[in-house]
Amino acid sequence: MRKPFEPKKLEIEKDLEGLSLKMLENHYKLYEGYVKKTNEIQEKLLTADKKTANGVYSEYGELRRQETFAVNGMKLHEFYFAALGGDGVPHGELVAMIERDFGSMDTWKEEMIATGMSSRGWAVLCYDFGDMKLHIYGSDAHNVGSVWNCALILPLDVYEHAYFIDYAVDRKTYIDGFFKNLNWDFLSGLITKWGLDKVSE
Ligand code: FE
Repeated sequence: MRKPFEPKKLEIEKDLEGLSLKMLENHYKLYEGYVKKTNEIQEKLLTADKKTANGVYSEYGELRRQETFAVNGMKLHEFYFAALGGDGVPHGELVAMIERDFGSMDTWKEEMIATGMSSRGWAVLCYDFGDMKLHIYGSDAHNVGSVWNCALILPLDVYEHAYFIDYAVDRKTYIDGFFKNLNWDFLSGLITKWGLDKVSE
C-alpha cells in the first residue's frame, strides 16, 4: 500500500525579480490542493464499485477521469516551483541538449514563449524517449495534451492564476519573468540524475 503524497515545500521565501512572493504563495496553495485531491481520489478508488464502471457515468469512471487531472496538476506544479529561484543564466547539460535539439537557446526560448502564449494550461519541455530528443508540448489542461513516454523537465504554467496577481492579463511579461528566475542547476541536474545525457549519445 502506498503512503499518501505530501506537498513538497515551497523553497522560495522572498520576491523574485518579476514574480512576487505573494503570487507564488497563492499559486502554491493551489498545488497543495492537487496533492490533497490526488490522495482523496486514490483512496476512494480502492473501495469504489468496479462492477458498475461505465464510460458514460460511474463513480469509478469519474474518479479515474479526475485522477489524471489531480496527479498531473501535482507533478507539473512540483517541477514548476522547483525550477524557479535561480539566476536565470543557462548552464549545464540541458543547455547542450537544447542546442542539439532546437538549434540554439534563442530558438528554444522563442518556441517555449510561442507555446506558452498559445496554450491554455502549460508549455512543457520534456525528454521524449520515443526519439530520445527534447520536445515542447502544449497543454490546454493538466490532463489534456499530455504525451506518453516523456520525462518532464520544465513546465511553464500559463493558467491565469499563475500571473494574474502581478500582471493582470499581460501573460508575455510574466513569461519573461519566469525565464529570468530559472534555476539551471536544478534543470541540468535532472538530465544527469536521470542519465539522459548518456541515453542521448
Ligand atoms: Fe498553476
